[in-house]
Amino acid sequence: MPGNPLIKEVLDKYSAVWALSHAMRVMSWDMETRMPEGGAAARGMATGEVAGMVQKATVSMKELVLKADKQKDLSDRDRGIVRVLRRRIDYYTKVPPELVSGLERVTTEATVAWRNARKKSDFKLFQPYLEKIVGLKQQEAEKLGYRRHPYNALLDLHEEGFTVGDADRVFSRLIPGSGKILEKVLSAGVYPSRHPLESAKYETPAMERVNQGILRLLKMPTTTFMMDVSTHPFTTKIAPDDVRITTRYEGVDFRATMYSTIHESGHALYDLGVGEDLRYTPIDWGASYGIHESQSRFWENAMGRSREFVKLVSPLLRKNLSFVSKYGQEDLYHYFNLVRKSFIRVDADELTYNLHIALRYDIEKKVLAGDVKVSELPELWNDTFKSLFGIKPPDDARGVLQDIHWSGGSIGYFPTYSLGNVVLGMIWHKMGDGRMIRESVGAGDLTQLREWLRRKIHRWGSTYTPAELLQREFGEGYNPDWLLKYYETKFLR
Ligand code: MG
Repeated sequence: MPGNPLIKEVLDKYSAVWALSHAMRVMSWDMETRMPEGGAAARGMATGEVAGMVQKATVSMKELVLKADKQKDLSDRDRGIVRVLRRRIDYYTKVPPELVSGLERVTTEATVAWRNARKKSDFKLFQPYLEKIVGLKQQEAEKLGYRRHPYNALLDLHEEGFTVGDADRVFSRLIPGSGKILEKVLSAGVYPSRHPLESAKYETPAMERVNQGILRLLKMPTTTFMMDVSTHPFTTKIAPDDVRITTRYEGVDFRATMYSTIHESGHALYDLGVGEDLRYTPIDWGASYGIHESQSRFWENAMGRSREFVKLVSPLLRKNLSFVSKYGQEDLYHYFNLVRKSFIRVDADELTYNLHIALRYDIEKKVLAGDVKVSELPELWNDTFKSLFGIKPPDDARGVLQDIHWSGGSIGYFPTYSLGNVVLGMIWHKMGDGRMIRESVGAGDLTQLREWLRRKIHRWGSTYTPAELLQREFGEGYNPDWLLKYYETKFLR
């Protein structure tokens, strides 16, 4: 590849940032999976130091990147490299390091306080920390700058170019639409809300064999991919040929571990599918959090909760989990697709999930704009929950205190979960309203699905903004109508 000499210079300089970020990812992987508790303080010091080095090295590229940006006729790849670097430099230039380290400090303490508050179901214990966090996030939004709504500044960090206007458009269709489908499904009574397998206990080694079998069904590579265990499952791309996921084992209700494994594998397939020519560049990741989530949710839900997949995975389950033998395939299908209104987001089924997200979106927007005070959040949460679900959380642990996100300073992240679902719907539609999924999974070969996703989405990495990518490959932006059609087809036919 001949390549633009200025971009070559940019990438040469970027290699230091890449190497430091690589080290950070290894350190954080180790911290989440293997590090003894005693290592925490030193790891915190080391990552803080390296993060500062990443920041400095990135900002030092400013002049060069701006010069490259002025080049005419850059290829799409090179344009993407410049765009992504400009965004990072922009962030580091606008947000002062004191603000970043301030957030770091508060969120470390806040996460501990949140855990305790949730355990005691007492919002007051968390409130002062959340007040500080919201204050700092408001400052961050001001420093970054925005049009119309401060929340736009934070949304853009997770979903480039996505605005409150876009989110309002998506949710104002998605929420009434899925609410209607949900009521119909609940009154039809075809999809049960409970199943005895929810309380069935499993032995971890047996479930490990199931999960390894699932990785084989998904044809996850053995030399460039691995799976470990952590409390909160996640995926990390250490390098182009070193992608890792974790799963969790709770000893009961095996759906949780099985679908965590499939979900994270979906993220990993995206990371592994990025084009060869993007390796070691700043665009060797996904287009956005929303697009990344569409991949995990596609595998978890559109593929993994289909009747065809139940059939495909049944022998593996029966072989390793003796208690499954009592149940037929249709019974298993319903266990994997229970529909019920629940208080907890992470337990939510496909149909109720977006309602949980709409609630958080609404609250985050209001609190960031200063329309409500942090002290008013429990009440606002419960009232909004009531209007969406028709029921009221019995306590704060099952209400405003349930998610870890705010304690870590993540505001503006939640909407990307629903965007992932929306894009899942668009993919499902493009696959012939799910025909390709039924055929591939029915034939027991998932390669076709993987190749399709690689061609349309994975290979581009972050070459394009999420909106550009969708326009290019799907001919439209985030359109929730296909997701609603997917729900209708799945749950009402
Ligand atoms: Mg995910």
